[in-house]
Amino acid sequence: MEFRDNRERVNEAFGVEAEAHGLRGVCGVAAFEPVYSSLLPSQQGVLRRLCGGRFTGLIEAGSVISIAYAYPDHAIEAIAARRGNGYDKGAWNEYARWYRRLNEALDETAERLAGETGGIAIPATMEGVAERLEHVEDFYPTAVSHRVPAELAGVGWRGRNELIVNPRYSCAIRLASVVTLLPLETTTTHYEGCGGCRSCLEACPFLSKKEVLSNYREQCRRYITALGLESDVCGKCIKACVDSELFRATQVSGLPPSADSVYYTP
Ligand code: SF4
Ligand code: SF4
Repeated sequence: MEFRDNRERVNEAFGVEAEAHGLRGVCGVAAFEPVYSSLLPSQQGVLRRLCGGRFTGLIEAGSVISIAYAYPDHAIEAIAARRGNGYDKGAWNEYARWYRRLNEALDETAERLAGETGGIAIPATMEGVAERLEHVEDFYPTAVSHRVPAELAGVGWRGRNELIVNPRYSCAIRLASVVTLLPLETTTTHYEGCGGCRSCLEACPFLSKKEVLSNYREQCRRYITALGLESDVCGKCIKACVDSELFRATQVSGLPPSADSVYYTP
């Protein structure tokens, strides 16, 4: 009961935070060890340093709380908005502003949950990364991937665009994490995945060639930098996912029953 009660307390605290920020969200829990084992070696080093003296205990019995906030619909609609023959970057910036807003809300929420659980918050992102770093490879050693705990906790599946796809919010979510030694019930959810959908690949020339390009992420980073929005974002592969037939079908048919294992804010 202790494990379940603690998770219910975490869900409750997350729900209060989401309401305070006026956001919709999802929260799940993965065991620490498989999260750690699934990270790149350089990211494992970052996580070990973050955990400090608690690392051994976390490997033995720790958890990672994965939290996600969803973009409002109008922010996604603003992505790649058109004006005449070109893009309306003024409108597109609405999405860029929401990117920052979600990150700020996630960081505050992660801190609150870390306080509640005696854990350590891992913030949503490093702002301005695409511009400051010369090469996308410079980024990976410096941050812990939130997608790994999100996937293992059942917040969503790994999409063809490499983002976490949630059945309710598609990949129009941002993620943060909290590591904790508090005994917590884990969540797992089985998803069918992307199936025959290829919408995000069709929306992006880099994604569509990701198997043959030496590093499509670097092409993505350069495109984002050249785009010059108010945050380092593009979002076309996210909008494509929201607009995809697969995601629309999910909305019509409802969520798979096992999706209940993660917590959705009301
Ligand atoms: S963010 Fe834009 S450039 Fe990068 S993968 Fe997605 S659609 Fe392509
Ligand atoms: S657009 Fe389709 S293929 Fe791409 S991540 Fe979303 S569901 Fe998967």
